[in-house]
Amino acid sequence: MQLFKTFEVIKETVETGLGMYPCDLKLANVMLVNVFSGEIYRSNIYIKNDRIVSIDPDAELQAHRVLDCNGQYAIPGFIDTHMHFETTMLSPEALASVVVPHGSTTLCADLMEIANVAGRPGLEEMLKSIDRLPYRMLVEVSSRVPTAPGLETTGAILDAEAVAEIMTWEESISLGELDPSKILFVMDEYLHKIADTVAKRKIVNGHAIGRLGQELNVYASAGVSDDHECVTIEELLARLRVGMRVLVREGSTERNLDALIKGVLELKIDCENLLFCTDDKHVNEIQEEGHINYNVNRAIELGMEPMQAIRAATINAARHFRLDDEFGSITPGRKADVLLAKDIRDIQPTTVIFEGKVVAENGNLTEECMLG
Ligand SMILES: [Zn+2]
Repeated sequence: MQLFKTFEVIKETVETGLGMYPCDLKLANVMLVNVFSGEIYRSNIYIKNDRIVSIDPDAELQAHRVLDCNGQYAIPGFIDTHMHFETTMLSPEALASVVVPHGSTTLCADLMEIANVAGRPGLEEMLKSIDRLPYRMLVEVSSRVPTAPGLETTGAILDAEAVAEIMTWEESISLGELDPSKILFVMDEYLHKIADTVAKRKIVNGHAIGRLGQELNVYASAGVSDDHECVTIEELLARLRVGMRVLVREGSTERNLDALIKGVLELKIDCENLLFCTDDKHVNEIQEEGHINYNVNRAIELGMEPMQAIRAATINAARHFRLDDEFGSITPGRKADVLLAKDIRDIQPTTVIFEGKVVAENGNLTEECMLG
């Protein structure tokens, strides 16, 4: 995976924008959902390799291929901010055929079970197997390998040193769901894991089931940035108050979106620090109702503005992981992850573009994409 811009990428993007080479793809006649400015307007999207070159409505750049989008909405690819790959019970390839047609192009995965069984080599194999697939997997490096030290026999241990080393990988974006007891009992090993993570300007994911008040303040003070375990609006508000973002979860075992979003709308809470995740969602339910697009559509159905719901699934998430200069919006220089959809209140992508390539159409992966 090449997540960050290199000299060559920057130069080619700039020179293409200056008209020195043709673009690879022009998405003509879209209603651009600009999550940065909060506007929706008619434009064209120009793409070279895996990057967006221009969204200027008046630009007249050449392109090898022009796709007439007939005024469909162009929405940034959706981001699942916390999921466990293992719960889907699918191979990385099979998972692609289920989540990508629904518009999820980035999965932030805590590979806790794989790490507990196969350790670092297991993580490396997962990343290798995903490299050619039509989505991006970013790693929330598991803080709990083993999950219950002393009470289980695991295939591997990721101690502070191992976590620090894995955190140097480009794909590693955070320290995965940190149990509050590790902080409240002041366990140095875990504080080292946090310190090594934040020193690399990466973040720490929370897992603060039921914690409130001073306990929650102590937990946040260690450097924990988010929580996906909120069940009530009181818990959601308490986390925002201590500077933690909330991952509104809608999976198979836990369905928290209705209660949280209804509360957010009722109390008129600012949505900037809300993101979406599935955590654990089974394949049959992904197929039936969707993936992150389900979170977005349901939030809209409950009364959230489409722009706010789409932001929670895109730019808010990218900003949280400090990756918004690489993806999460349809703006120049970012990865070209774009969904085309006819209805902005019920987003069912007709076309999914990942890193500049059309990877899904009308609910299925494209043939080119299946062949790799
Ligand atoms: Zn989880």
